[in-house]
Amino acid sequence: MGARASSATSGTTSSLRAVGVQTDILQALDQVPLERPLSGVGERIIAGFLLSAAADAIGFRNGHFEFNPSSERILAEVAAMGGPLGISLDPRSWLISDDTVMQMATGSALLAALHPGPSESGLLTDRGDWRAALASIMPTMAQAYVECLADTSDRAFGLQTIHALKGLSQRLAAGEAGPMGLAAEPSPRAGGCGAAMRSACIGVLFPFARYPRTLVALAVESGRLTHNHPVGFLGSVASALFTSLALDDAVPVTDWALVLLEEALPLAREHLSDLRSAGDLAPEEHDFLADFAYFETHLREYVARRGLSRDRPGAVTFPEDFAEPAARDRHFKAISFSGFAGGSGHDAVLIALDALLYSGGQWATFLEVGSLHGGDSDSTGAIGGFWFGARYGAAQVPAGHIGPAHLEYHEPLTRLAAGVAACVEIPEV
Ligand SMILES: [Mg+2]
Repeated sequence: MGARASSATSGTTSSLRAVGVQTDILQALDQVPLERPLSGVGERIIAGFLLSAAADAIGFRNGHFEFNPSSERILAEVAAMGGPLGISLDPRSWLISDDTVMQMATGSALLAALHPGPSESGLLTDRGDWRAALASIMPTMAQAYVECLADTSDRAFGLQTIHALKGLSQRLAAGEAGPMGLAAEPSPRAGGCGAAMRSACIGVLFPFARYPRTLVALAVESGRLTHNHPVGFLGSVASALFTSLALDDAVPVTDWALVLLEEALPLAREHLSDLRSAGDLAPEEHDFLADFAYFETHLREYVARRGLSRDRPGAVTFPEDFAEPAARDRHFKAISFSGFAGGSGHDAVLIALDALLYSGGQWATFLEVGSLHGGDSDSTGAIGGFWFGARYGAAQVPAGHIGPAHLEYHEPLTRLAAGVAACVEIPEV
């Protein structure tokens, strides 16, 4: 490694420590120079991480947009900046939020298991072995999430996440697994979008077409670390699944919700049934199988409302008034759990998918719908932003959103993304 690379790595390590990412986990990144030429897929993976962070920061605006209930008022402020593409982020005063801090923790835990760093011992060699994947990744992921507690200031972490991470921290420190392993206590309040907001990158390294059960198992279990409720962890499944499908150009965006409904949800149900059979679910978690219905019903109704069908690839139906911001707020609120659109595992991913479908691949439109609405706009932006980058890349995204002088954590995000991209398996043809 040359002097230049050493210098860059040192800066990365301190930046990553600042975002609560365990330094040991990221030693593997020493092998990943930023100058490494990347394939088109690699560029799309980096775009996923960066666009997710940018849409998070834009939708958050230090809490001013995230907690503003009116799309019209938000978009009026954005119009004064020159519209969505005129926004100029500032890494000191326009911060990324909890969504991106925790997405980085997820990515770093995956890297620790897959990246051939200084030592290859302990690497996960068979991504199709979902039990081995959980054994290899979950303890590291739990530790990485706990370390995010060091970077919560001014980032609007969710109450459920903070509560669960404190409990997880105590169990890890005591060397104890709880009755559900590392999972949080099951709770009716754990259906928020805090699991979905950080799991998109799982779909990069465990493509659904090759490793369906591992993708689902990892998405469920990473979610259960803090959000041990089906609405919470099924949102995580959707988030990871749709990233995988975004990188697969053979699957139109209009098919994604159908793949979730018809293929991924049954696998999630099977996963929990297996845990139950093995005695790995606490008695109070047995009701989970019934609680699936809330998420599944919302998804089924969404598919019907948008007219999504494998017989009509590319076709999607939006209400006539969907172009009006106030009408979109009403539509999004109507599917929410408690009136905070995008705050739960189910409506966060459905709003993000709406934004992607409605955008037609236009970044400005995606932001207007997915990141600048009157609800949990940073999380829907962070989730859908990852999918947008993975599908369309970053060619049309202005430097004011993702340039090194504008996006907070640009350098560690880019290096993390490059490390993840280096772990992507190239299918044999
Ligand atoms: Mg946030």
